[in-house]
Amino acid sequence: MKAITDYKNKRVLVLGLAKSGYAVAKVMHALGADVTVNDQKDLSGDPHAEELKQMGIRVVGGGHPSELVDGDLAVLIKNPGIPYSNPLIRKAERLGIRIITEVEIACELSDASFIGVTGSNGKTTTTMLLGEMMKGSPFEPIVAGNIGTALTSIVQTATKKNVIVAELSSFQLVGTERFHPKVAVVLNIYNHHLDYHGTLENYAAAKARITARQTEEDILVYNADSERVKQFVAAKSKAQKIPFSASRKTDGAYIDNESIYFKGEPILPCGEIGLPGEHNLENALAATAAAKTCGVPTAHIAKVLRSFTGARHRLEYVGDVQGRAIFNDSKATNILATSKALGAFPEKGIVLLAGGLDRGNTFERLVPYLKQAHIKAVLLFGQTQEKLLDACQKAGIRTIKRVGNVEEAVPEAFHESAPGDVILLSPACASWDQYPSFEVRGDMFIREVNKFR
Ligand code: ADP
Repeated sequence: MKAITDYKNKRVLVLGLAKSGYAVAKVMHALGADVTVNDQKDLSGDPHAEELKQMGIRVVGGGHPSELVDGDLAVLIKNPGIPYSNPLIRKAERLGIRIITEVEIACELSDASFIGVTGSNGKTTTTMLLGEMMKGSPFEPIVAGNIGTALTSIVQTATKKNVIVAELSSFQLVGTERFHPKVAVVLNIYNHHLDYHGTLENYAAAKARITARQTEEDILVYNADSERVKQFVAAKSKAQKIPFSASRKTDGAYIDNESIYFKGEPILPCGEIGLPGEHNLENALAATAAAKTCGVPTAHIAKVLRSFTGARHRLEYVGDVQGRAIFNDSKATNILATSKALGAFPEKGIVLLAGGLDRGNTFERLVPYLKQAHIKAVLLFGQTQEKLLDACQKAGIRTIKRVGNVEEAVPEAFHESAPGDVILLSPACASWDQYPSFEVRGDMFIREVNKFR
């Protein structure tokens, strides 16, 4: 870690404890800063809060007292999820205080260089794929960021021999100033998170921050099939641009003759890619382009593309159980993700398990995808059961059953399917009405499926 002195004896407010707040508070304390951590939640008894207190860090839970922000504060490090409308952030803005996310600190401190991956969908999959591919590079990769490991928790031990493959959300990127990855990967920009960013332009501008500090010596890998990525990100970048496209030849990664190519060199026939679905082709192309640019040998890239069958809970192949191909796509918490999953099995009969938290939207946009896929049956649970039932009826699906939860859906799914079919958990909804997280929901699904092995 770089021994910077910029924060010595400076007052730092960490807003939001969580994983990244905990990590960055410790790092800032180690740098000699006077750190306060504040969270809306009551933190009494929280083991992380207790540990920080033991170290001499001030921890304030149960609200956001206004006096935590005053003109003496050097920097406010906010949890990416906390909106800018938060009163403490508003106050800090008024006082002209620097407001950043933990990513910025990680970059300031890191001896290892960064590869950053962002996009509306596919970040985790691409980050993991690229992390595996980078094992064939001269650097030892560390996968971190939005994927679950706070960046500031790894920079302390990362050295020049490492490369940090970082999954970055728009929420994290919006709070960066000098963050500067050697390689930036931008997958796509959909109409997501507009409640937070306000407009599509703001959202795209947040994503574009990944390349804002890049120079001619850096690389931007971008999706040439996305007008938004081209317009909002690539057009403004100073980095060397490496495009990827699933629809036409480019001067980077592309599909030709049903194979992945990079600058004229065949990499792997698409049929051999371990990850199912068109959308994963996009992720495979992006990771291939980034890995090739980093000098990873083609044979290693091809090996990873063949063997990597998915990040957990993202169209994760669970196995063949009684002749059914089982897929856990519990992370599909919106219509777009479920529509991609349905499109991944054009020649198979599908039994779909769906439903969950009602966010107030309808499922009209799912109807064409439900129609197009060969759906044998749908099993519905959770708050959105009735709304999804309506969409499934509009799509002409004959067998639609209401069940209590995922656990009850699994035996029904075996009952409604035959060998050769796909059983797919792709809920199109968040899990919080019935499960603490999409991970728990996916694990429940797998546990029940395993009873049929
Ligand atoms: P993220 O980390 O950006 O949320 P994930 O890799 O976790 O993305 O994938 C989440 C869901 O989004 C997957 O279940 C899949 O259905 C869908 N998805 C993955 N990659 C893409 C892509 N390139 N384009 C569109 N949808 C995708």
